[in-house]
Amino acid sequence: MPLLVMKFGGTSVADLERIRNAATKVRAEVARGYDVIVIVSAMSGKTNELVGWVNETSPLYDAREYDAVVSSGEHVTAGLMALTLQEMDVPARSWQGWQVPIQTTSQHGAARFVDIPRANLDAKFSEGFRVAVIAGFQGVSPEGRITTLGRGGSDTTAVAFAAAFDAERCDIYTDVDGIYTTDPRITSKARKLDKISFEEMLELASLGAKVLQTRSVELAMRYKVRLRVLSSFDETDETSGTLVCDEDEIMESKVVSGVAYSREEAKLTLVTVEDRPGIAAAIFGPLAESGVNVDMIVQNISEKDYQGSDKPVTDMTFSCPVDQVGRARKALEAARDAGSIRYEKLEIDTDAAKVSVVGIGMRSHAGVAARMFSALAQEGVNIKVIATSEIKISVLIDRKYMELAVQALHDTFELDKAG
Ligand code: ADP
Ligand code: ASP
Ligand code: MG
Repeated sequence: MPLLVMKFGGTSVADLERIRNAATKVRAEVARGYDVIVIVSAMSGKTNELVGWVNETSPLYDAREYDAVVSSGEHVTAGLMALTLQEMDVPARSWQGWQVPIQTTSQHGAARFVDIPRANLDAKFSEGFRVAVIAGFQGVSPEGRITTLGRGGSDTTAVAFAAAFDAERCDIYTDVDGIYTTDPRITSKARKLDKISFEEMLELASLGAKVLQTRSVELAMRYKVRLRVLSSFDETDETSGTLVCDEDEIMESKVVSGVAYSREEAKLTLVTVEDRPGIAAAIFGPLAESGVNVDMIVQNISEKDYQGSDKPVTDMTFSCPVDQVGRARKALEAARDAGSIRYEKLEIDTDAAKVSVVGIGMRSHAGVAARMFSALAQEGVNIKVIATSEIKISVLIDRKYMELAVQALHDTFELDKAG
């Protein structure tokens, strides 16, 4: 039988009524002749609550127990979804990650898939079960402990099952009716896209567009999964939503196709560090070992004659997520105490946000950066740090200007109009 993967996010399973609504969509696909693997998230807000309980109980928690707690939200919705389907006379059962077993690495809180053996689910499908409901966001480590995949990880569970079971499509049901030129919560001018390339979606996701977890897009690109985002609240058919696909399937030819943002960024500057070979490694090595995700980096030009010394010195600036600032400070102070780096002071700005424009058209068009910077200048937005790659330009700015910057860039690149 042809097989579909259908994933329902937190708002789509937020209460029993919504679980019934989602189950109705599953039943419709079964009636069309599909076997279905359903991936569920926890009810909306549940994972945040569980994370909060862990932090309150143990600020420097054991990551294995963190995973034991936070994976439980998905256990509840998987069981409820299976029960709801059974009530609709659809033969279904639920599977927690370890029961499949979804094998992952043992990086608790950020585990990666190793293998999804098909045997257990295939056996059930051949017994006549039409739906396997899988608790998203989790797996089991080689040591036999429950792991989780990082926030938003149910998207990745869905794509991984679609790849492992050769699904015809992987449908991600959520609270928006597709992927937009930017988060529709920030501007009503955001336009829904019919299609978006894997490369662009990968950049948008990694730059903060939470509509898909970055890793899910990576997997879909690698395994050529037909990945679609659509609304669980609307009537939908095969043409609904946004398809994430290869570049050559797309007709639209805009230079910039989307704007992404990441709200909770911090900027840290090491003032007056020695400028010598190995200094960057001495700073960023300990940060990486402490699990700090350093993003943008700027090293200023060096000055000599600092305080009478003729050794060159410089300032080193970098950004990281706000919730990692404590860890970053600790790692840098420890490196200074151990004598591996010297600096005069550490300046920390926790009121930053990152705004980025993305488009594969940038590969062949010059001038995007200049247009971006002048649009921000016109709004009086000061740029703190800039980073570019082949298909994106990112700026770090004051958080209070984030919405304004997203709207200004959306207007400047005329993303409300089809290209
Ligand atoms: P789920 O709980 O279903 O996984 P998420 O909250 O993780 O849903 O993702 C959906 C949300 O992503 C939307 O409500 C929207 O606010 C946000 N979002 C951010 N960027 C975009 C974008 N470019 N297109 C659509 N939604 C976006
Ligand atoms: N429930 C998890 C989270 O909130 C995983 C997911 O919803 O994708 O991050
Ligand atoms: Mg999500």
